[in-house]
Amino acid sequence: MTDAILVLNAGSSSLKFRVYAVDASGKPGLMAKGQVEGLGVRPHFVARDAQGASLADDSLSKDAVSGHADALSQLATWLRSRYGGTRLLAVGHRVVHGGVKYATSVVVTDAVLAELERLVPLAPLHQPHNLAAIRAVQARLPQVPQVACFDTSFHRGHPELADRFALPETLYAEGVRRYGFHGLSYEYIARALPRVAPEIATGNVVVAHLGSGASMCALRAGKSVDSTLGFTALDGLPMGTRCGAIDPGVLLYLIAEKGMSAKAVERLLYKESGLIGLSGVSNDVRDLLESDKPGARLALDYFVYRINRELGALSAVLGGLDAIVFTAGIGENSPEIRARVCRAAAWMGIALDERRNRAGGPRITADGAAVSAWVIPTDEEGMIATHTLALVGRPAAAAS
Ligand code: ADP
Repeated sequence: MTDAILVLNAGSSSLKFRVYAVDASGKPGLMAKGQVEGLGVRPHFVARDAQGASLADDSLSKDAVSGHADALSQLATWLRSRYGGTRLLAVGHRVVHGGVKYATSVVVTDAVLAELERLVPLAPLHQPHNLAAIRAVQARLPQVPQVACFDTSFHRGHPELADRFALPETLYAEGVRRYGFHGLSYEYIARALPRVAPEIATGNVVVAHLGSGASMCALRAGKSVDSTLGFTALDGLPMGTRCGAIDPGVLLYLIAEKGMSAKAVERLLYKESGLIGLSGVSNDVRDLLESDKPGARLALDYFVYRINRELGALSAVLGGLDAIVFTAGIGENSPEIRARVCRAAAWMGIALDERRNRAGGPRITADGAAVSAWVIPTDEEGMIATHTLALVGRPAAAAS
């Protein structure tokens, strides 16, 4: 009988999943991936195999599939019909916030769930959906162990200075800290470096995770020492629809002078800012690269400008830089953005090799460049599967 791990990543309107087979070596191998998307609006189920061939592509009834519990039922029914002879060892979840307490992934118990519930105010747009998926699995598959893997864990070793705002101690004590996110992506890259780029694996590296959410992380010998995201997923770089670093005085102005409510400010900062806000065209870098509208150009200029600025800041934190690594949707797929970032940082000794950049890496700088640049595809779900398997293990009967 095949053993499998299910990885779930629950967002506001989607439930993304991956199914991994666990072979005798105990290494997870991708079997299928997909999502139930359009929850509450126009639910749709898609699934593909590891090679990308379509396994399912179905519109669902809005009444039958309105939330995460329904989406999970849909997924469970499909999994049973497709992989009937497979034993589900565990479910691993992406959970955005592990707070101060969880520096590693953890097996979900009632006490853990209660603790994670307390963190909802720190990540109100993400955490509730992550926890809804855990509860849906508890209700539907109560015997299957679950593991929570956090976007914050990889950053918990930050030095105290990087963990703080210049605010009174009471706020720090109650959890107003710079947590940092995209930790599963950075952990995957840190683990991949010895294999893909051994010459920089023990050095000073800045990883640029450039997707619809974007951040950068300073790694020293594979450990995170600082990152551009802080208390929430708003800080640092501008993102598809999020503002990135902003003077907090702007928020005071919006509230005090313009009478905006907290909800209206939240909407502005999370949904209407960043690339979409600046360009008025799109939150997608592909659209912006194709557009000749001035706003599109401004948005891309600002994106590259802020990446360059943070690259300088994180290099200073590290006390010098050996390499930059690009990853996630934009970092992996846009030679244009990579080239612009590398050109802006040429003064550091990043000498881009255009041909290697167009070819997609892994190394995209010329041999002998003082600071090298790399493209390494991330795999957050694979990281979750690895953590889940490490915590849950294989039952003795299945291990032979
Ligand atoms: P997330 O997981 O946060 O949704 P991804 O890492 O999948 O984000 O990145 C999605 C983004 O990647 C898209 O919004 C798009 O801007 C960008 N992207 C994908 N392919 C390309 C490409 N070929 N060129 C430029 N940008 C791309």
